[in-house]
Amino acid sequence: DAPVNDAVAGPATSNISVRRGEPLVVLNEVNKHYGDLHVLNDINAVVNRGEVVVVIGPSGSGKSTFCRAINRLETIDSGSITIDGKLLPEEGKELAQLRADVGMVFQSFNLFAHKTILENVTLAPIKVRGLSRKEADKRGLEMLDRVGIANQANKMPAQLSGGQQQRVAIARSLAMQPKLILMDEPTSALDPEMITEVLDVMIGLAKDGMTMIVVTHEMGFARKAADRVIFMADGRIEEETTPEQFFTNPQSHRAQDFLSKIL
Ligand code: ADP
Ligand code: MG
Repeated sequence: DAPVNDAVAGPATSNISVRRGEPLVVLNEVNKHYGDLHVLNDINAVVNRGEVVVVIGPSGSGKSTFCRAINRLETIDSGSITIDGKLLPEEGKELAQLRADVGMVFQSFNLFAHKTILENVTLAPIKVRGLSRKEADKRGLEMLDRVGIANQANKMPAQLSGGQQQRVAIARSLAMQPKLILMDEPTSALDPEMITEVLDVMIGLAKDGMTMIVVTHEMGFARKAADRVIFMADGRIEEETTPEQFFTNPQSHRAQDFLSKIL
């Protein structure tokens, strides 16, 4: 697998639907309600192989629900979501397979507190992918190395800083060799001095061609690594464009308002 990670073709004004790479994730007319709240409102989106899509928007706009719908941590009311051309499975073995193929990194690192760093990374490859302990250790150490933390392999999570723990969470996700990684505010729970080390790992993944959907308020990351920005407000995709265009010339009032508050 050597996905292409080219930026959107042509100038910022060109049709953004002309993109390199095949569609990997496709959301078609997706709707979801929580009671009266229309939390995903006619969402249409495509993420191509090797693309990095940053999802931005005010709190409560539906960003987490968008991510969680993609690996079916949330069900949807109508519309469809496909990954690699297949509709998301409802349950059973196929759902487990989907979750194995779609990595997720959360704000809270969710490491297993009573397992070592290496065990955290090897558990799923052994259980779900059927790797031997030896194979899993080898791959696990490679992934820990990739996030710059192989020397901590035998420690317990509590012995690591927040930034290190989040890098372990990323390594754990990589060890499953996912088709796609979803990251929901991966640096929001970190002390400021630890944010850069995690963002650097994420930028490295983007450069390596990993397909990523990243919810973040880190505009530096969006500018550096994103092929596209999706701006959400009130459950809708208000704007979808290049980072360049989004930050210098946002089109919607909601985006202008949002940017004026955070920049
Ligand atoms: P964001 O990640 O952009 O902050 P979320 O997707 O978490 O937004 O939430 C969107 C809206 O849906 C919010 O108003 C939130 O309160 C509501 N919401 C999220 N999860 C639930 C739930 N399980 N039950 C009811 N309302 C929810
Ligand atoms: Mg959220």
